[in-house]
Amino acid sequence: MSKAKLYLQYENQHLVLGPQKNPFVRLLKLPWPTYVYDLDIVRERFEMMKSQLSGVQIYYAMKANPHLQILKELKKMGSGVDVVSGGEIERALEAGFVPQDMIFSGVGKTIKELTQAIKLEIHQINVESIAELRRICTLSRQLGKKASIVFRLNPNVDIETHPYIATGLHNNKFGMAFSDLPELEEIILKNQDILSFKGVSLHLGSQMHNLAGFREAVQILREVFVNLQKRFASIDTFDVGGGWEFLR
Ligand SMILES: *Cc1c(COP(=O)(O)O)cnc(C)c1O
Repeated sequence: MSKAKLYLQYENQHLVLGPQKNPFVRLLKLPWPTYVYDLDIVRERFEMMKSQLSGVQIYYAMKANPHLQILKELKKMGSGVDVVSGGEIERALEAGFVPQDMIFSGVGKTIKELTQAIKLEIHQINVESIAELRRICTLSRQLGKKASIVFRLNPNVDIETHPYIATGLHNNKFGMAFSDLPELEEIILKNQDILSFKGVSLHLGSQMHNLAGFREAVQILREVFVNLQKRFASIDTFDVGGGWEFLR
């Protein structure tokens, strides 16, 4: 049973947080909206995931909650961080993460943001389109830096979640189709001096309440991964994304 459930309860029609209640009761009677975060719960959730996933590096998606104290705590516990903008890169650095802890995801990375990421030699850039891979090549050459990249692929799998947070179907903007692979591979082969090709990633969406779609997507992508591994010795990364509501 998660502590979160024990912590939240009603008392005289006031929402009460925390086992000792006192400080929070007062806080929650403030006449303006207030966010209260409990680092014990953050720690508990992270430990729970870590204990289920031995040999796996966990990356916290900063978009969930970029509070500096939460980020610092996660860094302390050994988490990496998934960022989607230059601002988030700055914030991650401020929280104590180093570029080797970071994955840069997201559609619509700007030239400025890609430049920043390549200069810092960020651990992994998740590439979302052929055009973006070409852009990364151009910038890496200009900057004289090698970029570590992973292909974000779209396995075209439906999951049971709200359509606005489902990202694993072909009709949405996230991830590349498998039919893009030949062209992507050709670019990699021509640019091996400036690209370090690390592997593949998927992210189906958030709040997946059951494992079925996730399992299907991982199995589909596993085949692609194994095939790529035969041709690219540098491949060691299989990034399965987030949305793991089913772990609750
Ligand atoms: C949002 C997001 C995640 C994390 O999703 P959660 O629902 O917070 O677990 C992981 N990877 C990418 C690319 C994302 O956009």
